[in-house]
Amino acid sequence: MKFIVDCMLGKLAKWLKILGFDAIYLNRAEDRDLLRLARREKRVLLTKDQELLQAAAGLPRLFVESDNWQEQLTQVLEAFRLRNRAKPHSRCLLCNVELKRIPKRMARNLVPPFVFERTPSFAICPSCGRVFWPGTHFEDMDLKIARILRKRTNRRKKTRDRRKRQEPPRGDNQNGSIFV
Ligand SMILES: [Zn+2]
Repeated sequence: MKFIVDCMLGKLAKWLKILGFDAIYLNRAEDRDLLRLARREKRVLLTKDQELLQAAAGLPRLFVESDNWQEQLTQVLEAFRLRNRAKPHSRCLLCNVELKRIPKRMARNLVPPFVFERTPSFAICPSCGRVFWPGTHFEDMDLKIARILRKRTNRRKKTRDRRKRQEPPRGDNQNGSIFV
């Protein structure tokens, strides 16, 4: 599932990418360009803009309710049942492109020696060529990811409660990560 995110939802877009989802965020696009891109690339529009929502009639779309990015993320994950499909740290946040695992030996000249020595696995962005490893991300980001992916539907208002679906508990976000 691919997303296009309106200009008010930059942080949501960033966090979708951190969780591995394809999310385009254009902070200066005209509405019509946004809609054209959504249509052409079959992207789900995520928006807080009622006018844009109306203009996107006929396209897959979701009105994002909260002003808080964590609640926004929770809404999107629940609306599209994505929690079990998250692959944290599997996408370049700059290019919105999936990272590729590379053999450790290929990273030898691409990362500082002390990183090479202590890190078992590396990945590269095919677009910008940046090399990633688990330590590239801030530690508190992993804590947030774990919390987000663990979060159940108990935040949801009772009136909006939908039929329950049995899902396996997911406490460890590293399962979906491309790093071993
Ligand atoms: Zn990149």
